[in-house]
Amino acid sequence: MTETTQPRTHPVNRWNDAEAPNSDGLASLTYRSRLLGSDRTLVNIYGGNTSTKSVEKDHLGREVSVLWVKGSGSDIADITPAGFAGLKLDEVLPLFDRPQMSDEEMTAYLDRTAFEVGRPRQSIETLLHAFVPARHVDHTHPDAIISIACTPNGPEIMREIYGERAAWVDYIRPGFTLSQQIGAAVRENPKLEAVVMGKHGLVTWGDTSKESYEKTLQIIGEAQTYLDAHTEAQPFGGAKVQALPDAERDALLVRVLPILRGAMKGARPVILNVDSSPEALEFVNSHAAAELSQVGAACPDHLVHTKRVPLYLDWAPEQGRGGAD
Ligand SMILES: [Zn+2]
Repeated sequence: MTETTQPRTHPVNRWNDAEAPNSDGLASLTYRSRLLGSDRTLVNIYGGNTSTKSVEKDHLGREVSVLWVKGSGSDIADITPAGFAGLKLDEVLPLFDRPQMSDEEMTAYLDRTAFEVGRPRQSIETLLHAFVPARHVDHTHPDAIISIACTPNGPEIMREIYGERAAWVDYIRPGFTLSQQIGAAVRENPKLEAVVMGKHGLVTWGDTSKESYEKTLQIIGEAQTYLDAHTEAQPFGGAKVQALPDAERDALLVRVLPILRGAMKGARPVILNVDSSPEALEFVNSHAAAELSQVGAACPDHLVHTKRVPLYLDWAPEQGRGGAD
C-alpha cells in the first residue's frame, strides 16, 4: 500500500549548479528534463517533452545544428542522453512554410533528418520545438496551467495572469498544425514568454537550460498564485462523510483490497494503489464527489493513462456489508 501526496503548492526550484553539467548541450538537457519530470505536478507520467539546439560535428567533421528532442517511448523523469532523438535542424526548419502535413508525412520526413543512426524516433510534438526560435524549449503539462486551460474562460484568465506575456492557442490534436501555430505565435512576438495550449499544457523557453527551467517554473507559479487566490474554501461542497482514523482505515483496507483485487482480475493480475492523501480524501469524502467523478477527464492528455470515468461507490464503512449500492 503506498500513499501518493501531491500538495497543491508552488513548484520548487531544484536546479543545483554543482550538479548541473557545465556544457549547455545534451547533458544539460538530460539534467533539466529529469528535474522537470521529478515533479508530477509539472509533467504527467510519460507526458511533456523538452529540447535543446546545439552545434555538433558530424561523421565528416562538419558542424551541424542539431535539435535534440525527447524520443517517443521514454519518460523525462528518468530519461538518459540515449532517450533523445537528434535531428538536423536546417533540414527540419523549411517545414514551417508548408500549408499542412499529415502525421504520416511528418514522421516519414523527420525520420530522414536524423543526425545519428540508432536513436529513438522523435516525439509527435517535435516540430513545436523546432519552430520556436529559442535554444532551449520545455513543453509541460502542469496541473496549475491545465486547471485553467480546461475552463471555458481559459483565454481570459490567462490574459489576466500574464497580460501580453503569454499567447493562447485553442485545442487541436498535437501534430504539424499545432506546432506551426505555436511557432508562429512566438516568431511574431519576440517579447512573448510562454504559449498556453488550450486543454493541453504549456510551452516555455530560454537562452540556457537553467533559464528555460526557471522560466517554466515561474510561469507555472504565477498560475498557481491565481488558483490559490480564487480557490473556494470548500471546492467540493464540504465533507459528506468523515475519513476514518489511519489505523482503522488500514485495517479495513486489509480486508477490502484482496476482494477488490480479485473482482478486477481479468486476463492479467492487477496491482492496486491506494491514495489516501489529504487531497484525495477531501474529494472522495465530499458532497460533490459522486457527480464530479463522472464528468470525464479534465483534459485529453489525462485520457492517455485513465479511462473516461472512474467507478464511484457510494459506500461508507459504517453502512457495513449490506450498505453498498
Ligand atoms: Zn503535450
